[in-house]
Amino acid sequence: MSEDYYDLLGVSKNSTREEIKKAYKKLAKKYHPDNQETGDAERFKKINEAAAVLGDDKKRQHYDQFGTAEGFGQGGGAGGFDFSSFQDAFGGGAGDFGDIFDHLGDLFGGSFGFGSRGGRRRRAKGNDLRYDIDISLEEAAFGTTKKVEFSRLGKCEACNGSGAESESDIITCPDCNGQGQVRRTQRTPFGLFQTTSACPKCRGEGTSIKNECRKCDGTGLVRETKNLEIKVPAGIDDGMRLRIGEEGDAAPKNGVNGDLYVFISVMPHKHFVREENDIHLEVPISVSQAALGTNIEVPTLLGKATLKIPAGTQPETVFRMRDKGIKDLHGNGIGDQMVKVVVKIPEKLNKKEKKLFEELGEESKKSGFFKRLFE
Ligand SMILES: [Zn+2]
Ligand SMILES: [Zn+2]
Repeated sequence: MSEDYYDLLGVSKNSTREEIKKAYKKLAKKYHPDNQETGDAERFKKINEAAAVLGDDKKRQHYDQFGTAEGFGQGGGAGGFDFSSFQDAFGGGAGDFGDIFDHLGDLFGGSFGFGSRGGRRRRAKGNDLRYDIDISLEEAAFGTTKKVEFSRLGKCEACNGSGAESESDIITCPDCNGQGQVRRTQRTPFGLFQTTSACPKCRGEGTSIKNECRKCDGTGLVRETKNLEIKVPAGIDDGMRLRIGEEGDAAPKNGVNGDLYVFISVMPHKHFVREENDIHLEVPISVSQAALGTNIEVPTLLGKATLKIPAGTQPETVFRMRDKGIKDLHGNGIGDQMVKVVVKIPEKLNKKEKKLFEELGEESKKSGFFKRLFE
C-alpha cells in the first residue's frame, strides 16, 4: 500500500504544522520535476499528496485515525492524483498552508497543478446523495413508482450558476487574459525555468467575478427541495440500490450534478418469504386431507390459486407451483412458488371426532399399520 505520509516527509507523528511545512518545502525543492539534478516526478507527487493531507488539520486527523487519506484514490496508480483535492487542502489561500504555493512559486513559477499540466481542468462534479425507500414484496415483484422529496444543492437561478451578481460582473481574468494558465520564466538556484500552471487568481477558469451574486454568495449554488418519481423495476430485491444519474447535488460553475442513489428495503411479508426469485409459503392441512387428498386454495402474488394435494401426502412435503414466483430483474425467466404442507394434528377433539379416530385406530391395527415396524 501507500507509504506512510509522515515517513514521506521525514517528520514525526507529533510534528507541528510549521515543521511539516518546512520539511515539505525542502523536499519539494529537491524533487520538483524541473530540478534537473534531483527531480523525481513520482516522488514529488507523493510528497505533495502527503503534504496535502498532513497540512490540513481535518485530513490529518482522519489520516491519524484511519491510516488512509480521505479524498485520495488509494492505489490509483499514476493517474490517481486529484488536483481538486490538492487545491482544497491548500484552499486557495484560505488555509495558512497556502503560502507554500507562493514560496515555491518564487522558485518554480508555481507549476504545481498536475491536473492542469495539459491546460485542461476536469469538470467539477457535485456530491452523490442517498435516499432510502421501503417497498412491499408485491411492489418488488411487479415494480412500482415512488415519489421522493429530498433536499439538495441546486444551481442558483439568480446567476444561472455563475456566482456573479450580473453578467457584466463576469470579467476576463486580468492575470491570465482569460487563458486560465500562466507562463513564467524564472531565475532560480537551479537555473532558468519556464513553467505553465493554472492561473492562481481564477483557478484556471479564465474569468473572475467583480461582484458576487447575493443570493448564493458567489457559490452559484442554493439549497433546493427536489421532487422525483423513481421507477422501481420489477424483480428488485432487498438491499439493492438504484442510481439516478445526475440527480444529486449540483456542482459549482456549471459542472455536472452528482448522482442520487436510492437504497431499497423490502418489508417482510405476512405469508411469503422470498428466496432469490422463488416464493416460499407454508400451508396447514388436516390429517384427513393429507390421507385422502384434496384441492386447496393458496395465496400467490398473483392472487388465489388451486393446489392439488394428492392422497397419501406426507408432512413437510413441498409442492412446486411453476411460474408463480418473481420475474427476474434481468429478464431471466420467472421464479416458482414453493408450498410446504404442514399436517396439523388436532389438539382438541369433539365426541364424534374422538369416536372416529378410535375406529380409525382399530382399523389401522387390522390393516397392519405399524405391525412390522420394530420386528
Ligand atoms: Zn447566484
Ligand atoms: Zn486567470
